[in-house]
Amino acid sequence: MNLSGWGRYPVIDAQVTAPRNLDALLNRVKLGSAIARGNGRAYGDSAISPTNTIHMKHFNRMLAFDATTGQLVAEAGVLLADVIDAFLPRGWFPFVTPGTKCVTLGGMIAADVHGKNHHKDGSFGRYVDWFDIVTSEGDIRRCSASENTELFQWTIGGMGLTGVILRAAIRLKPVTSAWIEQTTLAAANVTHAMEIMESTLEATYSVAWIDCLTTGKDLGRALVMLGEHAEADSLPSAYRKRPLQTPPKRRLHIPLDFPGWALRRSNMRAFNALYHWNGKRNADRHIVDWDRYFYPLDAIQGWNRIYGRRGLAQFQCVLPLCQAEQGLRALLAAISASGTGAFLTVLKRFGPQESRFSFPMEGYTLALDFPVNAQTLALMNRLDRITLQHDGRFYLAKDSRMSRDVFLQSEQRADDYAKYRQKEGVSVTYGSAQSKRLGL
Ligand SMILES: Cc1cc2nc3c(=O)[nH]c(=O)nc-3n(C[C@H](O)[C@H](O)[C@H](O)COP(=O)(O)OP(=O)(O)OC[C@H]3O[C@@H](n4cnc5c(N)ncnc54)[C@H](O)[C@@H]3O)c2cc1C
Repeated sequence: MNLSGWGRYPVIDAQVTAPRNLDALLNRVKLGSAIARGNGRAYGDSAISPTNTIHMKHFNRMLAFDATTGQLVAEAGVLLADVIDAFLPRGWFPFVTPGTKCVTLGGMIAADVHGKNHHKDGSFGRYVDWFDIVTSEGDIRRCSASENTELFQWTIGGMGLTGVILRAAIRLKPVTSAWIEQTTLAAANVTHAMEIMESTLEATYSVAWIDCLTTGKDLGRALVMLGEHAEADSLPSAYRKRPLQTPPKRRLHIPLDFPGWALRRSNMRAFNALYHWNGKRNADRHIVDWDRYFYPLDAIQGWNRIYGRRGLAQFQCVLPLCQAEQGLRALLAAISASGTGAFLTVLKRFGPQESRFSFPMEGYTLALDFPVNAQTLALMNRLDRITLQHDGRFYLAKDSRMSRDVFLQSEQRADDYAKYRQKEGVSVTYGSAQSKRLGL
């Protein structure tokens, strides 16, 4: 079948199977060049093998829960959305969540996903007690911080290239309500946004939305949004009776690909100006339900169609703290001068790297979507070079178009990872279209 990631670019002719049990899965792994696929929310080609893509959708059972520790044992194909549906009403929430809940536990471990709280709570791997993985010999190995530790460390953030994760034990966080107390602060430009973020590092959640079409002293004007889990007894009386429940939401559905004019710079400029004005107007503390706070895009089903038939590509890099301000200014200046732009550009503050091949490092990460065309692909190549000049690196879960040369220049860790995979014999058994493209 023709297969792509969330960005719908590139589209690859791939053989896909969805084994229903362990024997069927092991038979597929034996064929080699295998890659596990979760829910396909990585943007590019990391969950695609042209000859052997293994869809994990039937490995979707929750197996055990310990209400004293918050430990959930579940198969790798379980969706985060299902974990939240089952456990938020009982007072538990994931410690770390990406900007969509439509991801699997396997995909979250393989990308070692980060949330708006990386500066404080690290990435998802920190809350994985153990997982079971299928190795190149087809046996199943339990991995944790004390058992098969090397495999544990390389798998968290290893993009599926060490084996197929079958099941995992993850920890959930106790909460007393399903609501978030959000504070929005307006920043005149990106330097100001960083000052705000540096002075609010104690906030649990912190993210900035950047208007990447501004220039001069307004370059990177932003709204910084901070958040805390609201305590049940501090909620407005209307919500206090059932603090772990929120009203049902209406979902929008995008039925068709948007035409090119919808993404004209004038439309984006108007959208960004309105968004900033509205954010400034509501720049105070208010209560938001968990779904709207963490997953605003999930409310618009098929929003990736807004970018048109040719799909979208996301650019996401991280710059080390000491280079971040200069690098971000250079990236934003290149974007705003290019004549193309993005609706939503997101800036987050990262804490230190946690696992061997995890994307985050202490610094700032910038993420933005572009419709795929010759002009935006050329712009992203320029952004790659600016990132390299500032010692940054790129998020493989978002990548769909980076060159091998750029990747290898950005990743001193690639060589060690390739050597580890060779030593373990997994480099023949497992591989994705992305790992081939990047020479991993
Ligand atoms: C709207 C949106 C917002 C996002 N926001 C964030 C964010 O804030 N932070 C963030 O970190 N990411 C973010 N992402 C990226 C997303 O969290 C990751 O790409 C995640 O890996 C997707 O999970 P998935 O189950 O869909 O995996 P897939 O997309 O199917 O696969 C992703 C990778 O995981 C591997 N994998 C999947 N299942 C297994 C398994 N069982 N065993 C071994 N390897 C496996 C695949 O081989 C592949 O390398 C976002 C994506 C979208 C679409």
